[in-house]
Amino acid sequence: MTPVLIVLNAGSSSLKFQVYDMFDGMEPRLVWKGFYEGLGGAVHFIVKDTGGTPLDEMTWSSGDGIGHEEALMHLISWLRSHQENRKLAAIGHRVVHGGGAFAAPTLIDEAVIQELEKLVPLAPLHQPHNLEPIKIVQRRLPGMPQVACFDTGFHQTQSDIASLFALPRDMRERGVRRYGFHGLSYDYIASVLKDYDPRLAEGRVIVAHLGNGASLCALNDGTSIATTMGFSALDGLPMGTRCGAIDAGVVFYMLREMKLSPEEAERMLYTKSGLLGVSGISNDMRTLRSKAATNADAKRAIDMFVYRITREIGSLVAALGGLDGLVFTAGIGENDVATRAEVIAGLAWAGLTIDEAANRTGGPRISAGSGPTAWVIPTNEELVIARQTRSVLDAVQAKLAS
Ligand code: AMP
Repeated sequence: MTPVLIVLNAGSSSLKFQVYDMFDGMEPRLVWKGFYEGLGGAVHFIVKDTGGTPLDEMTWSSGDGIGHEEALMHLISWLRSHQENRKLAAIGHRVVHGGGAFAAPTLIDEAVIQELEKLVPLAPLHQPHNLEPIKIVQRRLPGMPQVACFDTGFHQTQSDIASLFALPRDMRERGVRRYGFHGLSYDYIASVLKDYDPRLAEGRVIVAHLGNGASLCALNDGTSIATTMGFSALDGLPMGTRCGAIDAGVVFYMLREMKLSPEEAERMLYTKSGLLGVSGISNDMRTLRSKAATNADAKRAIDMFVYRITREIGSLVAALGGLDGLVFTAGIGENDVATRAEVIAGLAWAGLTIDEAANRTGGPRISAGSGPTAWVIPTNEELVIARQTRSVLDAVQAKLAS
């Protein structure tokens, strides 16, 4: 029997999954991937092979009451009927916030779940949904090993100074500090840099994870030394619907002068701001690009996004003491030719020059000349979760054997 892992990435109304074979001493190997969308309403399930060919598909209407639990149990039974010589060995979960206590991937038990619940206020958009399938598996598949893999973990290498807010000392002791996110994505990019250019793997690299959530990470010799996100996933770059860094005074203005409740203010900053808020049209870059030539609001939102990315890159170049490479990843970074071109144009001062033709075809190298290089590298957060889950299981087994 080949042991397999399920990797889960749960959102408010979605459950994305990948299934990996685990062979001794080898990288986990993807077998199937898919998702459930529209959970709690009309649900669509699809599972594909590694080449992207759909193998199975199903829809339920909103009256069928398919939520996360029903979807997860459907996935388990789908696996059982398709697994042939495979046996489910563990489930690895993406968990956005590990706080100060969880620097490394962690085997889940009741006590871990309780600690992770305490971090919900720091990532209200993601953490509760990430924890949902963990609790379902505890209840419905007792004894199934589960591993939490954190978006914050990769940034634990940052110095005390880089992670400090200029607040009174006891705030730091309470855990109010910069954590950073998108760590699974940065971990993946750091692990493959050597395949693109060995010098880059050891050099000063800025990775731009530009998706619906967006952040930048400064890598020195493959480790994170600074990042744009902080205490929560609200900080740094403007995003699809999140505001990114704003003056904290704005929040007091919203509460005191506008009389918004904390929940209303939170909702505005997380779900009504960013590209959506500025454009008043959409959080989706494809929609904004399609309108930008004729619609000033769409253009303004994109211009702000590019401006802020370029400005924050300047800050990270200073933190790194120079720049050897810039990597674009995630939905916008991997696909939006114009955003890459505009960001690179704004970095001419740092010696970056675009290779227009390579940029149009997605590189991977999209820079010309002898300055810092620029790259497009597709991220793979699920593979990092599979690797981390596997390493936790191996460590548990080694402990049992000793
Ligand atoms: P992610 O959160 O990584 O899935 O990224 C979502 C973002 O990527 C959305 O703003 C999409 O509009 C954007 N995106 C995806 N594909 C493209 C594309 N072909 N061109 C421009 N933007 C894209």
